[in-house]
Amino acid sequence: MNYEQLFLEFSEKACEFVEKASGVALGFHSVADGILTTDVEKLQRLLLKYEVFDFSNLPESISSVEDFLKGYLFTFTTGKALQMMIDKKDIKNWIEENFGKGTLKLGGTSANMAVALASFGFKKILVYAYPLVRELAELFPNIESIKTVSQDGRIVHPKDGWKEEKLGAIHWIFEVKKGQKISLSGKEIVCPRDNRFIASWNPVNSKLVIADHFKRVYLERISEYPKFMLAGFHIMRDVYPDGETVESRMEDIASFVDEIKKRGAKVHIEMASIRRKRVRKALIDILFPRADSLGINEVELSWIAEDLGESDEGVLEGDPNAVSTTLRKVSEKAGIGRIHFHTLGYYMLLEKNAEKEKFGLAVAALAAARRAEIGSSPSCDDIKEALRHPLSETGLKASKLSSSDLYILPTKIVSKPKLTVGLGDTISSIAFSLSDIDDFV
Ligand code: ADP
Repeated sequence: MNYEQLFLEFSEKACEFVEKASGVALGFHSVADGILTTDVEKLQRLLLKYEVFDFSNLPESISSVEDFLKGYLFTFTTGKALQMMIDKKDIKNWIEENFGKGTLKLGGTSANMAVALASFGFKKILVYAYPLVRELAELFPNIESIKTVSQDGRIVHPKDGWKEEKLGAIHWIFEVKKGQKISLSGKEIVCPRDNRFIASWNPVNSKLVIADHFKRVYLERISEYPKFMLAGFHIMRDVYPDGETVESRMEDIASFVDEIKKRGAKVHIEMASIRRKRVRKALIDILFPRADSLGINEVELSWIAEDLGESDEGVLEGDPNAVSTTLRKVSEKAGIGRIHFHTLGYYMLLEKNAEKEKFGLAVAALAAARRAEIGSSPSCDDIKEALRHPLSETGLKASKLSSSDLYILPTKIVSKPKLTVGLGDTISSIAFSLSDIDDFV
């Protein structure tokens, strides 16, 4: 197979195919991210005031100022990313009073996917955004194809559908920079690398509640959006402050999934990094058996292998033999017909007649490479620019393992990426949106 030829051919047809693709619905969260850089003097002052000198017994979520500061100190000291949910409104208020909202940017997997697809040129996108307040609505780009359901049941651009002024949810992103220093108990702490500590206040979406008006209107208009991409499980909790469990939340989502499947929609689950084992288990037990498709990277696959009691050896390193064996086991145990695995260098698609999706995968790979290079979502025309990047050698080797139900596509690698966050969302959403490509090739 000449992969360069494949990429060239599809880059020329991408816009034509996108025009023919069916509508896609995306749930269940769009959120405002508040971006803040670290003011070391302020951080040090607060740590001293609240007597937080280490991050031992790091809690799972934030119910006090001390918990918040421990999480922040963890990321500052180790340079590792960390996301924690805020449990109490008074702590959210405390953070807001002390740090403000930061620079607001659109975030949340569903919103990120909506922007990736709309920028690319997909014509019909319905994104879940609730509570849709003015500040969140205004973060959506002015692209006509992005629609949501307003609380009074209209299908509108988010900017034409907001109800209240005040933000009901915010994910604060505290960026730490390599080399920043603080001094605690006479000891200097130097931040070892750039990273981010995320403190999220999202009481509605962390339950992945599906608002009634969205359910009703989506079910009425389902034929216009026959593909549904489900994501956001990484902000779910084992047990919520009101006592509700993740299993009960998952059952609620499952009954919605059952209804939309009955009406013929195809359902994709995007994994993202779900750190809580109980949340993963509930997802695997309750939603996986209902899904038609799954998007996953190497870290997520290794966790799922472990959860299913399978070996994860070699998966994290992206060893294609280990990955393919594990994908087959997940597919068998969970009964998912389509799994799209992505890692640096190649994508692996496990599906009956997997090769039929090669065009969709190739365009997703060009879009991801272009996004890595320019730092924003490319259009279908723009992906031709990504052709000049080299194909991954690892990917080329891996591609030899392709078989009738396993298609392995080596991908383009950008040597100096401007931005890598959100690439997984771009890859999975574009490939799934083009997954019925054989209907119009
Ligand atoms: P995120 O959660 O930030 O979206 P993922 O791990 O899910 O991250 O996806 C990242 C994917 O982006 C990788 O699997 C790889 O396919 C792609 N990618 C990362 N870096 C590059 C790069 N420099 N050039 C091309 N593709 C890249």
